[in-house]
Amino acid sequence: MYTLVFATNNQHKVEEIQSLVGNDFKVIPLKEAGIDIDIPEPHDTLKENAAEKARTIHTLTHQNCFSEDTGLEIDFLLGAPGVKSARYAGDDRNFQSNIDKVLLELKNTTQRNAQFRTVICLIWENKEYYFEGICKGHIANQMHGEKGFGYDPIFIPLNASKSFAEMSMDEKNGYSHRQKAVTQLFSFLKGL
Ligand code: IMP
Repeated sequence: MYTLVFATNNQHKVEEIQSLVGNDFKVIPLKEAGIDIDIPEPHDTLKENAAEKARTIHTLTHQNCFSEDTGLEIDFLLGAPGVKSARYAGDDRNFQSNIDKVLLELKNTTQRNAQFRTVICLIWENKEYYFEGICKGHIANQMHGEKGFGYDPIFIPLNASKSFAEMSMDEKNGYSHRQKAVTQLFSFLKGL
């Protein structure tokens, strides 16, 4: 079994990804790798932020590792919150205030198309590789459901009739941006 350090402190993401991986790979979150830092995401693109996180962890652990950065991109807001999704309503990374801000900004429009986009940066044997996953959908008029995290209660994927927050983890994985990027990552690794 291969081990890979996953540069995140977000337990939801760890569970989502571990549920996809099966037994071939062991994904080790930062805490388990003995790392207790909040890695900055200072850049203007998901790719640069993903690279920064993976490089930081690689420098600290010297182990194969990967990171991901995800943004919610809303057409009417010209791609916002995008790379700023975690701190859209302020520095405290509050899911509820981020959702409130998005709903307020879309209050008077029917143009609600949006997508989640995930970029993964893998550092494997000292080389960098990138993978991307997109999930298209739209922003609901109000919150639905209590599962998941972040913007899940207001995001309804294309061809679905409920929000991510109303879905089981398996159902969400059937649509999810992160799942698509992770699938590419692990099929790349299995092909090595
Ligand atoms: P991060 O910088 O990759 O952790 O993600 C930025 C922000 O996007 C998170 O804080 C969440 O608010 C949001 N986000 C990322 N992935 C998801 C998801 O799968 N569902 C809902 N919100 C998400």
